[in-house]
Amino acid sequence: MKREKSISLFEESKKYIPGGVNSPVRAFRGTNVTPPFIKSAKGSRVFDEDGNEFIDYIGSWGPLILGHGHEEVIKSIQDALYKGTTYGAPTANELEMAKLVCNAVKSVEMVRMVNSGTEATMSALRLARGYTGRSMILKFSGNYHGHSDSLLVKAGSGALTHGVPDSPGVTVDVSRNTLTAEYNDLESVRAMFSAYGSDIAGVIIEPVAGNMGVVPASQAFMDGLREITKAYGALLIIDEVMTGFRVSYHGAQSLYGVDPDITCFGKIIGGGLPVGAYGGKKEIMQKISPAGPVYQAGTLSGNPLAMSAGISTLKILRDRPEIYAHLDKLAGILEEGLKKGAAKYGIPLTVNRVGSMLTAFFTGEPVTSFETAIKSDTAKYVKFFTAMLEQGIYMSPSQYEALFISYAHTEEDIQRTIEAAENALKQL
Ligand SMILES: *Cc1c(COP(=O)(O)O)cnc(C)c1O
Repeated sequence: MKREKSISLFEESKKYIPGGVNSPVRAFRGTNVTPPFIKSAKGSRVFDEDGNEFIDYIGSWGPLILGHGHEEVIKSIQDALYKGTTYGAPTANELEMAKLVCNAVKSVEMVRMVNSGTEATMSALRLARGYTGRSMILKFSGNYHGHSDSLLVKAGSGALTHGVPDSPGVTVDVSRNTLTAEYNDLESVRAMFSAYGSDIAGVIIEPVAGNMGVVPASQAFMDGLREITKAYGALLIIDEVMTGFRVSYHGAQSLYGVDPDITCFGKIIGGGLPVGAYGGKKEIMQKISPAGPVYQAGTLSGNPLAMSAGISTLKILRDRPEIYAHLDKLAGILEEGLKKGAAKYGIPLTVNRVGSMLTAFFTGEPVTSFETAIKSDTAKYVKFFTAMLEQGIYMSPSQYEALFISYAHTEEDIQRTIEAAENALKQL
């Protein structure tokens, strides 16, 4: 496989951009592979500067549920483009988007648009704190909610330790207000609430975690969280930045039948343009400025191009339920193919899948939490990933990410991928 152009672009990029990339995972750290510099993409394929073609399972890390360059989405962006790119004023488009989101997700009665998932979760926390008058937030080990200060915190050593920052630059003062519990472990949540219950403004959770690889919450865990937060007067914040419109048009929350106070969105609702949103119960959302005192703003929020891409994506998903059936079917075939391949060569593999989100963990044990996820053999994963890329299959360079199927993927794509996977597994 030719790589000269990507290698030289990467070397030069490293001189001008920290690590050569604008988001860390793109650098393929922890592998010996130079990231392909992407020149264009269409449908299920990405094409790099060296002329290589890949079947894409990254899908820009989640947004591209319809595949790259979907004709109708492109058309709607084009139409919007000629009417001006931003006004900093209210538009009918924003109302249409808000109605689409509120009609799709039952718990969301009002919604505010922002420009990224990070902004959505950050603002949701401020709202939860402003609404409850409390300072602390409880999150789960291995759940990612973007890079705002309060959320860049992982578990301390003991169950009742205060959070420690994950990154230099996050102050201990900030991280002290972020508590961490274990995913799918209600006891760890109860322990935090018995110690700090009256100070906890909200619990934030990825309902189907995607950022430690795919790990779904159990039904009992989700039910328990709703019950505990209610009992203590804390808000339940469901981060559907990845799962929203991905695992169901009505959100992962519809699969669990859970009724959160606030929901965060991103990725798919932007249709490939930079968008985030947070919404929830009217009584809570009315606290946001200018309706209420909790300040939050954005020069480009509700941007006309982003709204048009998002609206057209959501409408396509809403009006063609066969899309989710297609995604589920293809992802199911891939799941089975990977399992069969691993069994054939005696490689321990646990595949977690919810709809079109899937992770193949290189471990023989069930993966239900951060602790069980990190038992995976990441060196094996990197070998697998490298062998797949060599065969034109573009997957996450990290074991701890989801793989995404889009509507543009075909059964033939999946069969080719399974053949490549068998070949890669054989070499491990
Ligand atoms: C991607 C993601 C975010 C952050 O969104 P950005 O648009 O990258 O800021 C937050 N939460 C979850 C669950 C995500 O998957």
